Amino acid sequence: RAKQEGRNAYRLFSTSLDVREHRWLAMETALRNALDTGLGLNLHYQPLVARDTGRLVSIEALARWTDPSFGPVSPGDFIPLAERTGLIQPLSQLLMRTVATQLRSWLDSGLTPVPVAVNLSAQQFWHQDLIADIQALYQEYRLPAGLLSFELTESILLDKQQQAITILNALRQLGCQIAMDDFGTGYSSLSYLHQLPITTLKIDQSFVQQLGENQGSETILAAITGMAQGLKLKVVAEGVETQAQREALAKYHVDLIQGYLISRPLPADTLRARYLA
Ligand code: C2E
Ligand code: MG
Ligand code: MG
Ligand code: MG
Repeated sequence: RAKQEGRNAYRLFSTSLDVREHRWLAMETALRNALDTGLGLNLHYQPLVARDTGRLVSIEALARWTDPSFGPVSPGDFIPLAERTGLIQPLSQLLMRTVATQLRSWLDSGLTPVPVAVNLSAQQFWHQDLIADIQALYQEYRLPAGLLSFELTESILLDKQQQAITILNALRQLGCQIAMDDFGTGYSSLSYLHQLPITTLKIDQSFVQQLGENQGSETILAAITGMAQGLKLKVVAEGVETQAQREALAKYHVDLIQGYLISRPLPADTLRARYLA
């Protein structure tokens, strides 16, 4: 009897694994189609503003995918899917080209766009053509230096630090700002942080959300912002949702804020109408 239950349990488990596996396979096919047709994939843009004045300083590009049968899929799901299935490179090409096209169109309309930050996954960062591709985009779209910037997470820079520094330096040479995303949640090695040619720390939204609620996390926030100031890095607080959080951040050395309080990520035209026009 126990044996039978065991077998049933095993079958149930294996069925649900199959279902999940099948769903991933179907999603992979759907993503492949989206990349082939260019349909359903695009970017939304979220402003980063000065904490004190609210002035627009830069914009983060966030990938969006809506599939006819899956509906909207979160980038937290489809970026890792693309990394597992070899689709990250074509996806990356499509998204970077979309940003460059958008910047060119704003420039052609006589607007003065601010830098647009693109998130880079590990495979994107370590791809051998990264620098050449970005250089080519700058040329092809005649973009002024510094209009593209990049966000990457600590884990990407954990190993191969010398090679990472070489790539980061090449990006800096193109005038790109480089932010460490979700800072404070990964395994950073503080001993080499000062050697990295990055420009910005983006403090993870978990710290912002615990403001006024968790003394320990405020102590870490104070330490991170103090250290960033010492290292002459710009500090961004992400995930700012309330006026109370914005005011609480005034105590710390935080230059820029980003979050639903200011704006959700927006379609390009909405962002343009609200922030660039
Ligand atoms: P991230 O780069 O840390 O982006 C911040 C995430 O927080 C975004 O989620 C954004 O929509 C969300 N967010 C912004 N303000 C608030 C707020 O006030 N409250 C809350 N609760 N959330 C807020 P999203 O767009 O779902 O992206 C999730 C992650 O997926 C990103 O985290 C980034 O790691 C990755 N991602 C998104 N687009 C791309 C892309 O084009 N390329 C790569 N490689 N990764 C991307
Ligand atoms: Mg980001
Ligand atoms: Mg982040
Ligand atoms: Mg994140």
